[in-house]
Amino acid sequence: MTDQIERTTEATFESLDPRTGAVLATYPVANSAEVEAVVARARSAARWWDAQGFAGRRRWLLEYKSAIARDAADLAAVIAAETGKPSEDSLLEVMLGVEHLDWSARNAATTLRQRKVGSGLLAINQKAYVGYRPFGVVGVIGPWNYPLYTPMGSIAYALAAGNTVVFKPSELTPGVGVWLAEKWASLACPHPVFQTVTGDGSTGTALVESGVDKIAFTGSTATAKKVMATCATTLTPLIAECGGKDAMLVDSDADIGAAVEFATFGAMGNAGQTCAGVERIYVAAPVYDRFVSEFTTAVKALRPGGTTTSSYGPMTMARQSEIVRGQIEDALARGGKAVVGGLDSLHGPYIDPVILTEVPEESTAITEETFGPTVVVNKVRDLDEGIERANASKYGLGASVFTGDTAAGRRAAEKLDCGMVTVNSVLGFAGVPALPFGGTGDSGFGRIHGADGLREFSTVKSLTVQSFAAPVNLLTMRRKARNMKLSVLALKLRHGRG
Ligand code: NDP
Repeated sequence: MTDQIERTTEATFESLDPRTGAVLATYPVANSAEVEAVVARARSAARWWDAQGFAGRRRWLLEYKSAIARDAADLAAVIAAETGKPSEDSLLEVMLGVEHLDWSARNAATTLRQRKVGSGLLAINQKAYVGYRPFGVVGVIGPWNYPLYTPMGSIAYALAAGNTVVFKPSELTPGVGVWLAEKWASLACPHPVFQTVTGDGSTGTALVESGVDKIAFTGSTATAKKVMATCATTLTPLIAECGGKDAMLVDSDADIGAAVEFATFGAMGNAGQTCAGVERIYVAAPVYDRFVSEFTTAVKALRPGGTTTSSYGPMTMARQSEIVRGQIEDALARGGKAVVGGLDSLHGPYIDPVILTEVPEESTAITEETFGPTVVVNKVRDLDEGIERANASKYGLGASVFTGDTAAGRRAAEKLDCGMVTVNSVLGFAGVPALPFGGTGDSGFGRIHGADGLREFSTVKSLTVQSFAAPVNLLTMRRKARNMKLSVLALKLRHGRG
């Protein structure tokens, strides 16, 4: 939290390295008064930031991007220490975050600049325009699993759209949020355009209640509901990016080697702690045995641990391991089989990879988000049955389809009830800044990234400018009967036929 704010409590918390439990640093738990003070500073900066225009903001944001890119290794080290993920994964996260910052800075003007639209026959005497204005101050609340990439999808797009931002990182990854705010401050920007407040859930609540003009929340569905209830009291608009239960569908003509490679990355990468990671795999019957056999071999080669060469790191949030354990127990109790690992895969902060097969669709391993290195592989008749099972979830974040026929893959994508689909890869959409990111159902609503992400952080301003008096004027208290008659005739001729 900025030094400019006078502290009103002494409350602090520690961030820990989940690999060792070692204390990394101590941070303030910002209370309501402190959060309000930070938001007041952000509000005072909002007018200046808006006045910079698209070109001015672009310059600042590209400068910010370069500063982050130059210090990528330093930021990656903070991410690795707080999440426990291997340093290469942390660096990858920085790369993705920087790409989004770059894209949002470069594309805000073309997306949000006022544009002319057709005015239609009824308003032929009007010139019509649509413009986009910033909300003012946006509060961003982020999770710990991708503590840079995920919130940057809101921070960058909100800033590029002309808002100032107050960011509340997860209490597990406060250092990343503080690093980002300090890096912004180091640009010598004369106003507090981007600030971070640290703390726990109470700080998140305080930010939602602080009078910010929009909240961009990323986290669990359960917390999103609480945030939404708080937003409802002040009619504060909300974007909710929540959990997922993404399915991978493997058709009988798919390249099994490629599907296995991607399944291993999608399900086990980052210890399965990826909102759009692969949690369910539905494989067409003709290739099921081969897929399970090759997937088993690939997954058994993984080596989780706390070193730089480990395949993936620990569970960042220790209590998530109990959810993973519960789901494995439930799947096995209902007749599922563990073909790799099982209950004894959980040890300390680490979970070795687990593959479950023949799991009944009612099992929590299928119905609830796992967020661990555990995946279910079930047999289906064909792609259509896979789509049906994929759509049976209350979540609708992402999905992937593996097929030898990309046209069939695209048709399947149309039928999948979710926000994002990738054909013959996993998470392909996450690295394309122009593509909106978000889900349906319990996965939330609203979009970050892309042009839609920029518009999400804007209010729409419609404008008409009368360029000449209407030949048939109906917007008058002295409306003429002849004009009304002519208009009714026009109505029938234009719309009443056929
Ligand atoms: P949580 O829901 O526990 O927390 C998310 C954020 O909300 C944290 O900063 C948390 O603070 C804060 N918070 C907690 N309580 C409140 C409250 N009452 N009011 C306001 N803010 C509050 O999620 P996790 O951090 O555990 O993140 C994991 C979840 O995020 C998974 O479900 C995952 O799928 C989802 N996710 C979704 C993504 C998407 O884009 N769809 C991307 C990444 C993750 P604190 O940590 O201090 O308690």
